[in-house]
Amino acid sequence: MKEYHKALLIWYDNQGRNLPWRAKGEQTVNPYHVWLSEIMLQQTTVVTVIPYFLSFIQRWPTFQQLAEASLDDILHAWQGLGYYARARNLHLCAKKITNDYKGKLPTSSDELIKLPGIGPYTARAIAAIAFNEHVLPVDGNIARILSRLYAISIPLPDGMPEIQNAASAFAPQTRPGDFAQAMMDLGATVCTPRAPLCEKCPFKPTCKAHALGIAAELPLKNKKLVRPQKYTIAYILKREDGAILLRKRPEKGLLGGMMGVPTSEWQLEKVESNNIGKDAPFTTHWKSLEGRINHSFTHFDLEVESYYGSICSKKAETLDGVWVFLHQLSHYALPKLFKKIIETSFKEIEPH
Ligand code: SF4
Repeated sequence: MKEYHKALLIWYDNQGRNLPWRAKGEQTVNPYHVWLSEIMLQQTTVVTVIPYFLSFIQRWPTFQQLAEASLDDILHAWQGLGYYARARNLHLCAKKITNDYKGKLPTSSDELIKLPGIGPYTARAIAAIAFNEHVLPVDGNIARILSRLYAISIPLPDGMPEIQNAASAFAPQTRPGDFAQAMMDLGATVCTPRAPLCEKCPFKPTCKAHALGIAAELPLKNKKLVRPQKYTIAYILKREDGAILLRKRPEKGLLGGMMGVPTSEWQLEKVESNNIGKDAPFTTHWKSLEGRINHSFTHFDLEVESYYGSICSKKAETLDGVWVFLHQLSHYALPKLFKKIIETSFKEIEPH
């Protein structure tokens, strides 16, 4: 093992983070915990993930128990973690592992990548951490460390192949799982994006960017692409007793299978004023509400204009969906976007 590998592992043994999905001391790694945490950590921070992870393993301690849970229960428990496609894939993956792999995760990254919700990074992370495969997964943190260690000056994402090559050469044969986790911790706590703490870093003697005094400037990034802007109308339909209409969104597509107030299609053009009621769940006088909601998804921004209408109980019975009082909203798998829409709208509809 090279000196810098040893230095990092010593640093990790002394200063690595204590996380609930990691095996400590003589404990054996639990592949279910590793898989669950890696899926939850996709696009979400460690601090946010910890309580969700603990509640999932308490409620569904094995692949089989998770596979037998209902998707609605999983989506509800996932509420607040965002990127709900992950929760649907989590369920699919648990079913596949239970049915096709006798409840055991495959042990190589080549097999893991065939499972739902597992991309190249997650496959390598699980294979390294749970099964000690000799690979180094490259996420944003690890890409940053490698770009600095080798002073790679090609802006991202074009520089990614060079970083991947560096990663392949960099993973040690010994303790590759601990090494990968050590890199994750180093990126999160020492080799941070804006102000790397090089004085505390075990790689300091070999780091090219540190030697050149350009650590904080790397990795370089291509200018951000302009994200598409989409528009939609949200319909807050209130029954005479105060309940509002929620509908389940189609299983496929963004926020699929989640509950929400009905909306028009999410489109690239603003909805024309004479088309406001076109996709409404009911024909009534729709009143415009002032508050606009702007919400960012990974690949586009969404502007939501809300409209408010009312309906009598008898006619309400004829509509698809569920009628929910505001105090019952927490019982439903409601994404942040719809919570924001409902909260903002009710500040106008019922200001007191
Ligand atoms: S020496 Fe500095 S720039 Fe280099 S890896 Fe360590 S913290 Fe990052």
